[in-house]
Amino acid sequence: MTISSELPIVECVARARIPTTTGGPDIFLHLYKNNKDDKEHLAVVFGEDIRSKSLFKTRKNDTQQDRMIRGAYVGKLYPGRESADVDDKQKLQLQFDSETGALVYDANTTWNPENNTLVRIHSECYTGENVWSARCDCGEQFDRAGHLMAIDREPETNIIGGNGHGVIVYLRQEGRGIGLAEKLKAYNLQDLGADTVQANLLLKHPADARDFSIGKSILIDLNIKNARLLTNNPDKIEQANYPPLLNCVERVPMIPINWLNSNNGIKSKEIDGYLRTKMEKMGHLLSKPLNLHTAETVNTLI
Ligand SMILES: [Zn+2]
Repeated sequence: MTISSELPIVECVARARIPTTTGGPDIFLHLYKNNKDDKEHLAVVFGEDIRSKSLFKTRKNDTQQDRMIRGAYVGKLYPGRESADVDDKQKLQLQFDSETGALVYDANTTWNPENNTLVRIHSECYTGENVWSARCDCGEQFDRAGHLMAIDREPETNIIGGNGHGVIVYLRQEGRGIGLAEKLKAYNLQDLGADTVQANLLLKHPADARDFSIGKSILIDLNIKNARLLTNNPDKIEQANYPPLLNCVERVPMIPINWLNSNNGIKSKEIDGYLRTKMEKMGHLLSKPLNLHTAETVNTLI
């Protein structure tokens, strides 16, 4: 069986450099289309040299201008630059297979796929990322993943960071895959006493409707072979494995910031219940002894 018949086919259609407000390294935002849904899934890439196979592969009638505009260039763009494949200022040049047009791996210009790469597979969460919700820790986890990819080592935890290399795959599957409207209804059920799993079940949705197969295809397209996966979710460890193309070589824990420093991070009754449910019902590998609020029992609801 070929790979494409098992995994969704993805294609990176554009990539752009994003200078960030954090003072960390520039990131490269990759936008993907795929043959499974019509959503614009993303990869937030730390490291200019991590390259998408589908974006960089030469296309029919491709011009250097076309390639620079879609983001298939080496080094850095500057006013007046004429070649995507050559950065004169940094003395970098991409090589391509003359028959297939595929980018050829070259240690000077392209991240070695054998390197272990810090990876986070993140699902969109409008509320946690945009309206300061303290019902979940999605926004905090996104920030923390980026922070760890930028640094070489975190002194408090001794976690080895990405030192400027890493990939956050950002999947558009809001509300554990049930969509924002259903998620808002689930929040009302939570205010009525359900936990996050019970609320989904009451709405006749699975506890977790997410599908990470597109994420796997995106990582393979980015030529990430050995992933150090940032997660507490045992399901995700399995889903970042697709040997021999993609191997999860290590799990790096996502520790809530409030557990590292009680003056920082999210503090709310809701986040305590959310983390408790993740541990007790979803098998998440969070192990710190918790001083969480007592979970309210709502067994009468289901
Ligand atoms: Zn969230």
